[in-house]
Amino acid sequence: MLDRIVRLLEGALAAALLTGLCLLSASADAAHALNAEAPPSGPLGYYADFLQESGVRLTPDEVMTRLRRGEGATPRRPVPDFGIGARPVWLHWRIENHAAQALIRRLSMDTPWVDDLDVYVIQAGTVQAHWQTGDARPQRQRPIAGLGFAFDLHLEPGRTDVLMRAATADPMVLPTSLQAIETAGTAHRWTHYSHGFVYGYLLALIAYNLLLYTGLRKRSHLLYAVYLAAFILMNLGYTGHGYAWLWPDYPGVQRYVILISMVLFGVAGLQFAARFLDLARHAPALRNAVHLLCVAAMLAVGAAAAAGQQAITAWIAFGFVVMFALVMLLLGVLAVRHSYTAARYFLAAAVAGMSGTLASSLAVWGFIPFNEWTYRAVELGMLADATLLALAIAHRFRQDQQERIRAEHLARTDPLTRLPNRRAFREQAEAIWSTALRRERDITLVMIDIDHFKQLNDRYGHQRGDEALAAVGQILLAAGRRGDVAARWGGEEFVLLLPETNETQAAALAERLRQKIALIRLRAGDTEISLSASFGVAQRRGEASLDALIDNADRLLYRAKQLGRDRVVANSSEPAQPLVGPTA
Ligand code: GH3
Ligand code: MG
Ligand code: MG
Repeated sequence: MLDRIVRLLEGALAAALLTGLCLLSASADAAHALNAEAPPSGPLGYYADFLQESGVRLTPDEVMTRLRRGEGATPRRPVPDFGIGARPVWLHWRIENHAAQALIRRLSMDTPWVDDLDVYVIQAGTVQAHWQTGDARPQRQRPIAGLGFAFDLHLEPGRTDVLMRAATADPMVLPTSLQAIETAGTAHRWTHYSHGFVYGYLLALIAYNLLLYTGLRKRSHLLYAVYLAAFILMNLGYTGHGYAWLWPDYPGVQRYVILISMVLFGVAGLQFAARFLDLARHAPALRNAVHLLCVAAMLAVGAAAAAGQQAITAWIAFGFVVMFALVMLLLGVLAVRHSYTAARYFLAAAVAGMSGTLASSLAVWGFIPFNEWTYRAVELGMLADATLLALAIAHRFRQDQQERIRAEHLARTDPLTRLPNRRAFREQAEAIWSTALRRERDITLVMIDIDHFKQLNDRYGHQRGDEALAAVGQILLAAGRRGDVAARWGGEEFVLLLPETNETQAAALAERLRQKIALIRLRAGDTEISLSASFGVAQRRGEASLDALIDNADRLLYRAKQLGRDRVVANSSEPAQPLVGPTA
């Protein structure tokens, strides 16, 4: 009995040890073998083990030996990331083909900016295939044309080892995938369509804003278009479109275009923001700081690129873009705090842009799941950013327009009485006058002047005088029919133009106004002040110009003053008795 228990325990121990050993040897060899028949849908980071060179270039043999010795490590993220200016990295995968026949699978590496990329396919201890590519070589030399890098692996039944060596001064981010060729094709179609959408959307916004700039000459439209164009240039660079379409034979351009366009993008964004938020007026010191930052970044990146210092150029570009995002956010917050027009849109745009960048960075670093959406969140963020900024500009445009309308209204209105001023009266009256003339209709003009107004001012102060003017203004504002024009002519004089009205009707209206003005009571301490006004009523009797009619009315008003004020004098009553006089 005891014997059997001991033997059982021994057996269990042995099994446990064996399992442990198996696990250990597996992890020393490769993280997990890839199944060629059913490759994983996501990136291959967890399936790889990697080595980093330390100065001397390794051969595939050396790498395999060192990996077998357990010197490799498994990346901690699905998309391995070694930062900017990293030493060359070797990734290794073990692929098992359990099928009876050979299979072809496409291995992709989707960051197009990696300078040098070598892929080795090793079967039965010998290198069966070797590709040398990278964006330091002309685009045409790629094994498979495309945005990133792709290699069709011929996988014989059994085990295949794949080594990928990547070297770059740019960020060493290595999103890899293994797919059947048809699956890879579908994925690429989706990539192309979605880029088509992004570019189409942004190009439409650019075209629209350039048109607006041509029409309106507002610099913010131009700077906004430049900002979006810089984003497109940067996007063309880092997605590989630019290299595939625009400069396939110029690896020298490809080497720096992403980094330089990143700086251009940031500079254009900051210039747009400075203009849009009118920093020159609201925060000149901040604007100078922003300008300084832009000039410094451009000089620095230009100098580093001219000196051929790719890694330094990359550090400057990435550092500047981070600063750019933070400054945009800061400007947005400041603008909202100072309740600047359209600031909320601006802040929302900055937040959207930054969130997209952040999401993409987090995905690339492995903090959030890496997929097409998270990797390209920067583009989604930019679409939201661009849309919100377009709304911000539209909002500002409307606000400006409303302000202009208000300013125009103010320029035509007398602020004290809220009646049209003399200029506005002229514009409206001329049109009415010519209509009356053409159709030979009655038209009458009334001139009104407050009596002894200087006395009122002198005795009770200018303030009371202003109140009197406002009170008379209110009566005149309420008096007219539609089509009549009442205005402040100047000082304590008012004018009324009455189309389709003869002298008798106009005199009756004037009399009603006179009575209403006589009822006005103003208080000055214990004293009650009352007002009176004199009226000159002139119907058109062949006068050829409005000015002539005004002169007539003025003359009649003078008559009214002469006759003792507080009365209405019309053409027919002149030079004899007033047509209508004071009732008292
Ligand atoms: P009359 O009965 O002959 O019209 O005498 P008057 O004092 O009303 O006439 P006059 O033209 O001598 O004086 C007009 C005064 O109106 C002089 C000026 O200081 C005053 N005035 C003009 N515009 C304003 C204003 O906007 N506010 C006030 N408070 N006074 C004004
Ligand atoms: Mg007066
Ligand atoms: Mg006067």
